[in-house]
Amino acid sequence: MATQTDLGVSDSVQGSGLITVRCPADGRVVGAVPDMTAGQVHDVAQQLRAAQPAWEELGPRGRAKHLLRLLDWVLDNDKRLIGLMQEETGKSWGDAQVETAVFVDTVNYFTKHAAEFLADRTVERSGAMALTKKLRVFHRPHQLVGVITPWNGPLATSTVDGIPALMAGAAVLFKPSEVTPLTWAEVVRGWLTEINGPPVMACVTGGGAVGAAVVDEVDMIQFTGSTATGRKIAARAGERLIPCSLELGGKDAMIVLDDADIDRATSGAVWGGLWNSGQICVSVERIYVEDKAYDEFVDKLTAKVAALRQGMDRAGSFKTDIGAMATERQLNIVEHHVTDALQAGARAVTGGNRRDDGMFFEPTVLTGVDHSMACMREETFGPTLPVMRVRDEDEAIELANDSPYGLAASVFSANKERADRVARRLETGAVNINSVLTATMLLTLPMGGWKSSGVGGRNGGAAGLLKFCRQQAIVTERFNLRSEPHWYPYRPRMSRLQAMLVRLTGAHDWRRRLGRKGKNREG
Ligand code: NAD
Repeated sequence: MATQTDLGVSDSVQGSGLITVRCPADGRVVGAVPDMTAGQVHDVAQQLRAAQPAWEELGPRGRAKHLLRLLDWVLDNDKRLIGLMQEETGKSWGDAQVETAVFVDTVNYFTKHAAEFLADRTVERSGAMALTKKLRVFHRPHQLVGVITPWNGPLATSTVDGIPALMAGAAVLFKPSEVTPLTWAEVVRGWLTEINGPPVMACVTGGGAVGAAVVDEVDMIQFTGSTATGRKIAARAGERLIPCSLELGGKDAMIVLDDADIDRATSGAVWGGLWNSGQICVSVERIYVEDKAYDEFVDKLTAKVAALRQGMDRAGSFKTDIGAMATERQLNIVEHHVTDALQAGARAVTGGNRRDDGMFFEPTVLTGVDHSMACMREETFGPTLPVMRVRDEDEAIELANDSPYGLAASVFSANKERADRVARRLETGAVNINSVLTATMLLTLPMGGWKSSGVGGRNGGAAGLLKFCRQQAIVTERFNLRSEPHWYPYRPRMSRLQAMLVRLTGAHDWRRRLGRKGKNREG
């Protein structure tokens, strides 16, 4: 069981309350973490601030050496970490294993490219004032970045923002979800006590109040979680005038056009909608199928979903596909969306029920749904696939855009131009063509929600690291002039010459260059 000292918190800030963590698949107690106070969060933040300058001073190559040692440690301990993740989330082994791949990819990408991304940039001169100057941009990290995460991906979600923030030279204060705090706390313990990494990351634990205390301490906040919490964090960040980046909820649509490969589309829908029991922000949450393809799509989808094996399998056995729901609250939301749909006339062609052994909800396909139902409008975050028949491409796009969310979407079609045309009309931050979830996992593509799905974004190559930096504009003199023509005292000849120069270099016709009025441009 993790202790406070292991998490990067000195003995002087230890408190008394504990949060018990249970395995959702069978209710077993699997660990406990301290429920910290705001005072404790403050003390941890101070310790991180003290360590940050030396970390920044190391430079990207020095920091990469430490993070690559952490990568080795994670690989050496991967079975234990995946097991821990399984215990606190109830995931299947296969689902949990994907998170290690995200960690490995992220560390390798940012350690490889950070020096290039953070290099001082010389920029083009613009305007007469810059003629005697050299213009550069330095990148300086926000000193202390807060990373607050939800419960669905205990290893991956802290990784995707925490690693680039560390590589940028920031110290990072992590606040994992109170539901699944154990895996990331163990990574931080490994960093501090097993590989003796510099004390530039710490993990504080607790619920919303501890998250709020983190927002009050840091210089920049990176939040992943629900839209409701994101709004509160943005409001507080606004009051404190600190930057915030928000990755929030979604209601991702999948559009299946009548020329699509239905075998691939149905396999994509099953994995994209049910991976991690549907508990991923970019999960396929609703499907629109063109009339001609609808019957074949529903038949094949139903058969594939019915064949899934559900349960929390033994370590490394890959005996099940889909695991448990992480919380009773989430299970209740899923149950409500399904019952609401069934009462309004929808049909569960497979699944539809909560199981009575642990927090499992059967993988479910719903037909006969429409936009009056919660399952098509609100984020379900569970193992449901509601499928709706649509007349044509236009109706599919209109319904897909009929949502307050705009995270990602997918389009299936054999015609690349047609798929691009649909993608351009979707109001979402990403579109996977003939694929699902993929855009989120590719580090060189930007991942950011539109509308109520977020503000800012992550990844996108250099942008994924530079978002944790402040840009510093540096102007250097190219010549050792004693003064500048526009400095005091103003002298009539020099000032008139300057006015002439502005016209000569800035005007687009000779009359104006020579100080006269020119013709008006045509509309
Ligand atoms: P949540 O918003 O309830 O909690 C997320 C985190 O915020 C937790 O660590 C929680 O303790 C903390 N928190 C709660 N109140 C806070 C406050 N007032 N100030 C600061 N921190 C506070 O979300 P959840 O239920 O844990 O996760 C599910 C949600 O996360 C879903 O809506 C899902 O779509 C979203 N999500 C989004 C992404 C993405 O990248 N867009 C990824 C995964 C999950």
